[in-house]
Amino acid sequence: MYSYDIIVIGGGGTGLMAAYAAASEGCSVLLLEKGTALGGTTAMSVGTVAASNTELQRQAGIIGDTPDAHFEDMGLFNKTLANRDNLALRRILVDHAPETIEILRRMGVVFMGPLPEPPHRVPRLHAILPHSRGFIVHLSKACADLGVLMQTGATVTALTTTGERVTGVEIHDHDGHERQVTAHKGVIIASGDFSAAPLSYKQHHMSGPLLDIGGINPLSTGDGQAMAETIGGKVINGDLAWGPEIRFLAPPKPSIISKLPTWPSLAKLMVWAMKVVPPVLMRPFLLGFVTTFLAPSHNLFHKGAILINQQGERFCDELDRPQDHIGRQSPASGWIVFGQEVAKQFDQWPNFISTAPGVGYAYLPDYENSRRDVVKKADTLAELAETIRVPLANLETSLDSHHENLSRNPALSPIHQGPFYALGPAISWIVFSEGGLSIDTEFRVLDGHGQPIPGLFAAGSSGQGGIILNGHGHHLGWAFTSGRLAGQRAAQEANAVV
Ligand SMILES: Cc1cc2nc3c(=O)[nH]c(=O)nc-3n(C[C@H](O)[C@H](O)[C@H](O)COP(=O)(O)OP(=O)(O)OC[C@H]3O[C@@H](n4cnc5c(N)ncnc54)[C@H](O)[C@@H]3O)c2cc1C
Repeated sequence: MYSYDIIVIGGGGTGLMAAYAAASEGCSVLLLEKGTALGGTTAMSVGTVAASNTELQRQAGIIGDTPDAHFEDMGLFNKTLANRDNLALRRILVDHAPETIEILRRMGVVFMGPLPEPPHRVPRLHAILPHSRGFIVHLSKACADLGVLMQTGATVTALTTTGERVTGVEIHDHDGHERQVTAHKGVIIASGDFSAAPLSYKQHHMSGPLLDIGGINPLSTGDGQAMAETIGGKVINGDLAWGPEIRFLAPPKPSIISKLPTWPSLAKLMVWAMKVVPPVLMRPFLLGFVTTFLAPSHNLFHKGAILINQQGERFCDELDRPQDHIGRQSPASGWIVFGQEVAKQFDQWPNFISTAPGVGYAYLPDYENSRRDVVKKADTLAELAETIRVPLANLETSLDSHHENLSRNPALSPIHQGPFYALGPAISWIVFSEGGLSIDTEFRVLDGHGQPIPGLFAAGSSGQGGIILNGHGHHLGWAFTSGRLAGQRAAQEANAVV
């Protein structure tokens, strides 16, 4: 049977960083990824990482920001969840995130910003260029340089134990082979969240509209959480998720621009060009790099857009959590419909269609130029109905019901004037779930009595341990930082299997 010092389950940002850190300590490392490629949710993300006290902040004139200030500001995002947070893990995140940024930069990752996001008191969002696959390219190269063996198409199906200690894993290879591999020091679970887990698993932790919808990453099936639970591990905050949230699909075909290599030189050229080239020329170029699922602003509804299903019917009050109702439609998607009255408002701040990597905020003209897969436009309602294949009579009835509401809410615009627009399909997703294994501050997985399970570590989404990561950039910050520290900690473990 093959054996390694450390086995890492999952080839997203957490797993790659854990493998890199453990290999940097001289360990032999096997990383197993069930997908056909490395990347996970990390490679689908927008790519912002929150950190204080970084070189990039200082270059931008932000002097004196500290982990202490970051710790305080993170708490301001939490509101009603404050009493469910794990402050010991928050402390670890803010203290070590600055070094994480520097390590990623040394590997070749190029960030723009930092960008502001109140209630952070200063800009802290470091946004990768050209896109989040860059994390994977640079991390996997760093791992390869240190001799990490990275296998894709290899699904870990169980943890193996000797007595109470985790000493390896069972693997199902995509060519049909089953095998076992031993870990001398430990196994690190870095297998992501459970947003796309089977309903039977989700029902143990979640309730309500979250059970009607799927996850953006179909491979986020909670394997690590489930495997650890079978040997006593415990999931914390399993009922929490980033969602339901309405998002458009990712671009169906990657644009030519988004296929450009993630060379640091190209990314640095982009940073320079963003400072000197007029925005009107840069915006279509930057939006060409968008590979992720963008979230339409609910401000569209507050200005008078309506949400219809594929039958052309309104099915909820658009101003009262429309995201909770899309999952119950058939098919489970909707169209955001409006006329020129709304369209003309969404061409400048503060009325953006969505946030977007590279440009910060994308407006309707940006979508018309760069996201034609999302924007359907027609001079008449009949043409629009035909384009999006909904019955015209139902669409007209939906508009009538909207117009009946207008006297009660003067902020809403009517939908009388063409051209008419439909944005979509708009789908409600669990973007990611927050339920991760209970861990201690050394990333050891804890059982129901709070005792470490020997030989088992967890990090990233699967080892979220109850830390609340609200605000942008904290999930990736946690993935890279916790992965790094878990890898270092596992490397210190005495050899249990010889
Ligand atoms: C659209 C979108 C945008 C986002 N944007 C941001 C952002 O800008 N900033 C931010 O901070 N966060 C963002 N996030 C969240 C962030 O991307 C995730 O929290 C983070 O990437 C999780 O990293 P991870 O390594 O824990 O999981 P992943 O990156 O999902 O990696 C887990 C890997 O484990 C593999 N795996 C699972 N089970 C097994 C198994 N049994 N055997 C082998 N391999 C397995 C999976 O295939 C996957 O590749 C975004 C998420 C989404 C969906």
